[in-house]
Amino acid sequence: MNAKRLDGKALAATIREGLGQRVKAHTEAGGRAPGLATVLVGDDPASHVYVRSKRRACDAAGMVNVHRELPADADQAEVLKLIEALNQDKTVDGILVQLPLPAGMDENKVLAAVDPNKDVDGFHPVNQGRLLQGQPGLRPCTPVGIMRLLQETGASLKGAHAVVVGRSNIVGKPVALMLLEQHATVTLCHSRTRDLAAEVQRADVVVAAVGVPQLIQGSWIRDGAVVIDVGINRNEEGKLVGDVEFESASARASWITPVPGGVGPMTIAMLLQNTVDNCLNGASSS
Ligand code: NAD
Repeated sequence: MNAKRLDGKALAATIREGLGQRVKAHTEAGGRAPGLATVLVGDDPASHVYVRSKRRACDAAGMVNVHRELPADADQAEVLKLIEALNQDKTVDGILVQLPLPAGMDENKVLAAVDPNKDVDGFHPVNQGRLLQGQPGLRPCTPVGIMRLLQETGASLKGAHAVVVGRSNIVGKPVALMLLEQHATVTLCHSRTRDLAAEVQRADVVVAAVGVPQLIQGSWIRDGAVVIDVGINRNEEGKLVGDVEFESASARASWITPVPGGVGPMTIAMLLQNTVDNCLNGASSS
């Protein structure tokens, strides 16, 4: 088998184009353009790059981007005050607090300060609870992007065996719940899993969200499996690689996401989608 590529870059571009058209129709009909607020605390260079690309994507879709920056030595009360102001701001439909926050700040407390109805990252405990219970709510962008990519394959998840590797609150756990919601039988693996190879070998769908370059060996992939590689790592030569051995896994899988150009671009597209939906269905102003 030679796997087909799940082209997240192309799919994300199509989704963003569609969002742009929805925004245009809404504003031409007299509606307010959806607004996304980005909050950046400190001077982590990677965070600056991520926030810049999210803001650009916002502009390209005809949305309003509201940016707030605080220095690394800002105190937590200042951050909380800023978030409260954005919660009250009627032009803001989504609030994104870029992580990581500077050392010493309580990330959980800051994320919990965001109004759950504006939590377009889907990290607020209320939204994570809604996901757990299968209730409607804002859902985290990377897992939603993964589910959208899986939909592209046309493969049914009902009764399929899905193996998720990594149990973070932002990827592994939520994507496991979303797969379960689609009636997959889900195994959630992590750093203490006894025999990772054996678990992966049973999978019809593999979602790798670990952060260890090429941890998942191609020889572990079952013939015809769908492989979603969330990892973004630099290998020894400084090249960007995923958590899966791409070439050897491609020889066995039916579908596989490349790194880069797979899951990554979908994350931003889903962030914009959450914000646009939130504005157009009035959830952020209720
Ligand atoms: P994390 O760093 O919070 O957690 C890693 C998880 O991997 C943990 O649950 C741990 O138990 C598990 N793990 C570690 N070593 C393991 C091993 N040897 N065997 C099995 N499991 C092991 O994870 P995260 O924040 O979800 O990020 C994971 C990867 O995904 C990173 O490379 C990150 O850069 C990437 N990521 C990409 C996107 C995107 O948009 N493409 C978004 C988020 C994260």
